[in-house]
Amino acid sequence: MALIPMRTLLDHAAENEYGVAAFNVNNMEQIQAIMMAANETESPVIVQASRGARSYSDDNYLRHLMVAAAELNPHIPMAMHQDHGNSPATCISAMDMDFTSVMMDGSLEEDGKTPASWDYNVRVTREVVEAAHARGVTVEAELGCLGGIEDGQGAGLSEEEAQDHLTDPDEAGRFVEETGCDALAVAIGTSHGAYKFKKKPTGKVLRMEVIREIHSRMPNCHMVMHGSSSVPKELVDIINEYGGSIPETYGVPVEDIQEGIRHGVRKVNVDTDNRLAITGAIRKAFAEDGAEFDPRYYLKPARVAMAEVCKARMISFGQAGNAAGVEMKTLEDLKSYYAMA
Ligand SMILES: [Zn+2]
Repeated sequence: MALIPMRTLLDHAAENEYGVAAFNVNNMEQIQAIMMAANETESPVIVQASRGARSYSDDNYLRHLMVAAAELNPHIPMAMHQDHGNSPATCISAMDMDFTSVMMDGSLEEDGKTPASWDYNVRVTREVVEAAHARGVTVEAELGCLGGIEDGQGAGLSEEEAQDHLTDPDEAGRFVEETGCDALAVAIGTSHGAYKFKKKPTGKVLRMEVIREIHSRMPNCHMVMHGSSSVPKELVDIINEYGGSIPETYGVPVEDIQEGIRHGVRKVNVDTDNRLAITGAIRKAFAEDGAEFDPRYYLKPARVAMAEVCKARMISFGQAGNAAGVEMKTLEDLKSYYAMA
């Protein structure tokens, strides 16, 4: 088994100056696609499940699929992460299912919609950090709010409104100190979902200086970029060529993510690009042979299309080739590490 605490992976990424893509999963084919890409590029991986994914798959299906991926790939270090936990209870339930990392998103209240107060965010994050570190589990927290909504999580801010909820570098240091979190998700003007920017983003809307500023003040802070799909035109075009109707839209360019990685970003959440790849492949398969009805006929190319996106991100973020270098630490190892800290 190669399930490791996410902290171990982020520390290795920091020491070796690379970023790790965190891919969301809902079913077997998505998990297999990530592992195919990890094997081909020799990458360590973060596989993450949102609350929506856990309820879609009834928790236990997803848990066993992720554990199966770890068992079948003992040479690939893999962190199993809860994406956007809305409450301490959600995070604890993930730990009870052997997740090695959780995100307590206290930037929003428990409804997953209302921007929360500083005090609330610090209180719930601190509570999760205490419970998690006692088990050796890693904690990601969030300060500031992203735009959009994904899987029912998000304040639904527009591209413009998101600019008023950026992470304040002055507050970031105090927040990390008061909560003890292992990684900090920052808001830099991006949104969840496919509709991030109406035109190719400039420095006015994609505020990379927030990342540079936090990194210069806290060089050891592991930052996380959410809403970081690049929404490549080629993938949108395939969907539209085969009957889709996705309007013109722009994501976060890979070069900007690489710039973030040079300044302390260690985890990069990617979901939309994989969704686009899967949907394009399925639409194409349907269009090419209307007489086929075996789900494997369209799920196989969908899985390959997602693996291609994962591979490309693993290479661009620099995690490729790093699987063998990451120590296979256990939650027990991290428990002692936190107890000493
Ligand atoms: Zn997110």
